[in-house]
Amino acid sequence: MTARKRAVVIGAGFGGLALAIRLQAGGFDTTLLEKRDKPGGRAYVYEDQGFVFDAGPTVITDPSALEELFALSGKRMADYVELLAVDPFYRLCWEDGSHFDYVNDQESLDRQIHARNPADVAGYRRFLAYSKSVFEAGYIELGAVPFLSFRDMLRAGPKLAKLEAWKSVYGMVSRFIQDEQLRQAFSFHSLLVGGNPFRTSSIYTLIHALEREWGVWFPRGGTGALVRGMVRLFADLGGRIELDADVARIEVVEDRAAGVALADGRTFTLDVLASNADVVHTYDRLLGHHPRGARQAATLKRKRFSMSLFVLYFGLSRHHAQLRHHTVCFGQRYRGLIDEIFSGPALADDFSLYLHAPCVTDPSLAPPGCGSHYVLAPVPHLGNADIDWDVEGPRYRDRIFDYLERFYMPGLRRDLVTSRFITPFDFRDTLNAHHGSAFSLEPVLTQSAWFRPHNRDADIRNLYLVGAGTHPGAGVPGVVGSAKATAGLMLEEVGR
Ligand SMILES: Cc1cc2nc3c(=O)[nH]c(=O)nc-3n(C[C@H](O)[C@H](O)[C@H](O)COP(=O)(O)OP(=O)(O)OC[C@H]3O[C@@H](n4cnc5c(N)ncnc54)[C@H](O)[C@@H]3O)c2cc1C
Repeated sequence: MTARKRAVVIGAGFGGLALAIRLQAGGFDTTLLEKRDKPGGRAYVYEDQGFVFDAGPTVITDPSALEELFALSGKRMADYVELLAVDPFYRLCWEDGSHFDYVNDQESLDRQIHARNPADVAGYRRFLAYSKSVFEAGYIELGAVPFLSFRDMLRAGPKLAKLEAWKSVYGMVSRFIQDEQLRQAFSFHSLLVGGNPFRTSSIYTLIHALEREWGVWFPRGGTGALVRGMVRLFADLGGRIELDADVARIEVVEDRAAGVALADGRTFTLDVLASNADVVHTYDRLLGHHPRGARQAATLKRKRFSMSLFVLYFGLSRHHAQLRHHTVCFGQRYRGLIDEIFSGPALADDFSLYLHAPCVTDPSLAPPGCGSHYVLAPVPHLGNADIDWDVEGPRYRDRIFDYLERFYMPGLRRDLVTSRFITPFDFRDTLNAHHGSAFSLEPVLTQSAWFRPHNRDADIRNLYLVGAGTHPGAGVPGVVGSAKATAGLMLEEVGR
């Protein structure tokens, strides 16, 4: 009997976890090495005085991609985690006091759009049809295809050209919709995966069709419960996860990854390796001693990176019944503010926020009668804005609390039980993210598909990548799709 091949995956984000599950189910002896004390990566969980705060992703879309992970090993996702439907998907609010409930009910959408601008009812239908065609081509057909050769890109070319993929999300939405607030309502989605709606390819309008098709979900117990469900599945399949396992170096012998060394001196040998850690960190820090690592790191550092985030978590002693689960709070400026967030050298005076109130869907995330929340502000990454977040963080927190009290949650600080925040420094130092970017390489057309770091390294042939920095990109469906693309290659090329 031949011994099973040993796979090591660095990083237990959604991408690393999904890949480890696929490899273990596919016959590899898989070890997952995570530097933090809990799995999840950007989906870490903070807990304090009975409040549970999901640190990152809260909008769970495409549940079928998650179900597939359980089904491929003969399990049922429902035995591991329950997904609850979120309705409305989002409430979108403006400072003039108006709001738009983005729901999955055509009649309600038509009514709300008509109230703003009757001509946009027909325009929205045309936009939805466009978004569906992009969804078919860009997500269903190409989402989990590893773009290893330029031929793959050429093959996709005619489709992308037909869909006018060179246009921006906002540009495409504006072709169909006239009302400025509705344009914001149907173009902000790319921000959720680190894309600037004014620069990101219109391919990202597919998120709209994806949500309309499969809904918006939230795991009972929070996103952390989904992470725990995936970890349990991996363990049930016989996989091994090591926490507090900070990989410091990838050992290469004759252009093959031979092992990894941890900062604490432990070593692991392997037949095949995948990194879910930040792509620049992987090449620069873990492989910097090898010519390939140094070269690739230098190339990657010249790319454009997505913005960072300031995220403020807070627990209150009472509910705010006026809130929905997901609220997007648009500021007065849209394009100007987004330009400053993506390219500006400083923090803007105004902001647009995303407010998370998960107890609307699952009250168990806070003590009885209380509410867990987070509010997120996109901010420039550290490569663009050299901000000392140790000084700015508390000031920014207070400004955001002032704003929330004024527009959305009167008396918030009177009911405050606990709060904490993370800044670009945490993305840089805890998650090893280049420039503290929250979403890795910016998803513009020239950094997508074949132009994104490939799912397999070109020179070190048993080194693979998975997660936001590789194809197709950030977001839970994106990184779970990248795991499918990467696992397909590993199973095919390295076998069992
Ligand atoms: C605040 C926030 C909100 C978001 N909201 C949404 C949302 O609602 N919906 C959505 O779909 N997406 C959302 N996203 C995006 C989504 O969370 C990410 O794109 C996705 O989770 C990234 O997954 P990943 O697999 O690339 O890995 P990550 O989550 O980045 O995990 C990588 C892991 O590697 C580990 N690691 C790094 N270096 C080492 C090392 N040297 N040794 C060992 N381990 C290492 C890290 O500790 C980390 O656990 C959000 C992101 C943020 C930050």
